[in-house]
Amino acid sequence: MSLAVDRYDCVVVGAGVAGLAAASALSGAGARVAVVERKPFVGGRAYSYPHPALQEVVDSQHVLVGCCTNLRHLCGASGIADLIRWYDGYVFLEPGGRRTNLALSGLPAPLHTSPSFAAAPMLSLRDKLAIGTALQSFVRGYPKDDSESVASWLRRKRQPDGAIRHFWRPVVISALNDTLDRCSMRYAGQVFHETFLRSAEGGRLGIPTLPLSDFYGRVAQHCEAQGGTLYEKQSVERLEQRGEEWAVHLQGGGELIAKTVISAVSFEHVPQVLGTELMTAVMPQGVAGFCHSPITSIHLWYEREFTTLDHAALLDTGIEWMFHKSRIRRSPAGQGSYLELTISASHAQLKESRETLLTRSLRELESFFPEARTTKLLKSGVLKEAKATFSVLPGMDRLRPAQETAVPGLVLAGDWTQTGWPSTMEGGVRSGYLAAEAVARQLGSSRSFVQPDLAAAGLMRWLARE
Ligand SMILES: Cc1cc2nc3c(=O)[nH]c(=O)nc-3n(C[C@H](O)[C@H](O)[C@H](O)COP(=O)(O)OP(=O)(O)OC[C@H]3O[C@@H](n4cnc5c(N)ncnc54)[C@H](O)[C@@H]3O)c2cc1C
Repeated sequence: MSLAVDRYDCVVVGAGVAGLAAASALSGAGARVAVVERKPFVGGRAYSYPHPALQEVVDSQHVLVGCCTNLRHLCGASGIADLIRWYDGYVFLEPGGRRTNLALSGLPAPLHTSPSFAAAPMLSLRDKLAIGTALQSFVRGYPKDDSESVASWLRRKRQPDGAIRHFWRPVVISALNDTLDRCSMRYAGQVFHETFLRSAEGGRLGIPTLPLSDFYGRVAQHCEAQGGTLYEKQSVERLEQRGEEWAVHLQGGGELIAKTVISAVSFEHVPQVLGTELMTAVMPQGVAGFCHSPITSIHLWYEREFTTLDHAALLDTGIEWMFHKSRIRRSPAGQGSYLELTISASHAQLKESRETLLTRSLRELESFFPEARTTKLLKSGVLKEAKATFSVLPGMDRLRPAQETAVPGLVLAGDWTQTGWPSTMEGGVRSGYLAAEAVARQLGSSRSFVQPDLAAAGLMRWLARE
């Protein structure tokens, strides 16, 4: 696309989930919107790319849950809701293959998973009683204050080791991508309230069935169909205030003129995009208090299937989750089996060689699926994402800025801004919709884009605080 100087109601910097959500909302409301993305694909951290050595399109599996109302709305509006495969239960495997299915029953929330929980072989009776008692803390809601860590809360609630290893830790590390001492109980409490207690719908697991940049590419196409413009492979170098307008300077010389700008980049890129003066005006606290947490994924292509599971949490190993991508995507039979193993909060693994990681992961996988030993591994790859998410460290909330800033016409978005959510696609979409609302106000119209949370269901209609 040529870069003739053009005028927009809003220029969005970054085509991650947050930027695309803002652009989708604003272009849908009739605003002239341009999105500038430095990479050759959209999706930001939720991306996929053709791996040259593997000759496969790869991504790190992203999942959502039923209570991600804003992400689901964005997918619905973009016509891709049916590209998410939904699951009603979670499978937990122990080495040796013993299996726990946490599945829905016909009982009303918050009791909807209690029959399978009561029968779960992965937990002792003592573990179950301790978890059941502690979970009652989240029936009415979750803490507003984010100062306590999950580790401290578990100590206070006297949770046994088995309950931590087989329940609290796997759920928290998968949802918040950091260790128990580095996650705030406010966000873990939100996960337990929304996905385990408030409604059966809120806890359903959704998995995109397309590689992520194709998935989010459909959202970008929808924005373009609504009149938006996407500039890929264009990096925003700096922003300049010119009277009541903004000049968005692109690397290599071009510029775009806009009434408003949304910076929808990840926190570490904000100082570069804003520059020192705007940064001081918008975020005097800076971004030094934010920390990244890594995710590592191991990609394995086998000659044939050795499990019919689509996904499972793997307990008592270094691997958090197994995604059977060829099944999730319903790849044609006879084309082998494609698995992804995910290691959350992989701080230690960042320093390990790919060979060490692969060898250990294969050994661990074989402890759950002995048949893997005799199945031919055709190819394998390791993806290390050092900056996968930001950590919801205890006390982070005071550092997360609102989308509307003190500078007229300049708005922030990104999963790291004030969304009430941890570092997730849902957090990204919420921030994008909140940013779009702020832009709409500045353009003189009052629009609301943020979607309501799922209603409490069953007994939770009386028990949960709204
Ligand atoms: C391996 C991995 C696994 C994950 N798993 C999950 C999961 O299962 N579920 C879930 O909900 N979330 C998951 N996440 C987190 C999720 O991907 C992020 O929370 C979300 O994508 C953040 O979106 P964003 O738009 O806020 O930021 P980003 O995705 O970081 O988007 C920012 C965009 O801005 C662009 N940009 C930066 N600087 C410039 C510039 N100067 N000019 C132009 N463009 C610029 C970047 O290229 C990028 O495209 C995972 C993340 C990773 C990496």
